Amino acid sequence: MQRILVATHNKGKLAEFAGLLGPLGYAVVSAGELGLAEPEETGTSFAENAKLKARAAALASGLPALADDSGLCVAALGGGPGIYSARYAGGDYAAAFQKIIAVCAEKDEWRARFVCALCYTQPDGETATYIGQADGVIAKAPEGVGGFGYDPIFVPVGYEQSYAVLGAAVKDKISHRARALAQMASALRG
Ligand code: IMP
Repeated sequence: MQRILVATHNKGKLAEFAGLLGPLGYAVVSAGELGLAEPEETGTSFAENAKLKARAAALASGLPALADDSGLCVAALGGGPGIYSARYAGGDYAAAFQKIIAVCAEKDEWRARFVCALCYTQPDGETATYIGQADGVIAKAPEGVGGFGYDPIFVPVGYEQSYAVLGAAVKDKISHRARALAQMASALRG
């Protein structure tokens, strides 16, 4: 089995990547296991940040490395918080939900999109990037306790409940991360 380094310290993401890459013949090693530090996310796009993380991990480990960067883009916030999604919440998601809902209500503009950039870097520096997106609307009030981050206020197109209510069975089929992973998997299969 070929080893692949997944440049994340997030256990949920690691499990998602291991499940996808195992059947393709890749054994997943995490950045945490190797004690690799996370580089600062100084890029100005999801793709740039994913590249920064994947390149740093490949260089430090000598292994092919995979990194992702993701976030929520809200039309009423001009596409924000986008790459600053984690920082915008600052750990207080309940407050972030209320801020976002208030701006959407003020503008009566509820459209939103989750974006995920995945970057795969070989030890020789060769890099490929895959972008997955999932469109939806912001819920008028947070609903559900499942998932993480902004899941309670995101209602994907074609559904009437939030990701937090719909749960992993639905989310894993249609999410921004699932879509980027599917593209990468088809590229790895050749
Ligand atoms: P990162 O990709 O780990 O940098 O995550 C960025 C932030 O975007 C997360 O901390 C969440 O706030 C948000 N985010 C990204 N993907 C999701 C998702 O699938 N559901 C809810 N929030 C998400």
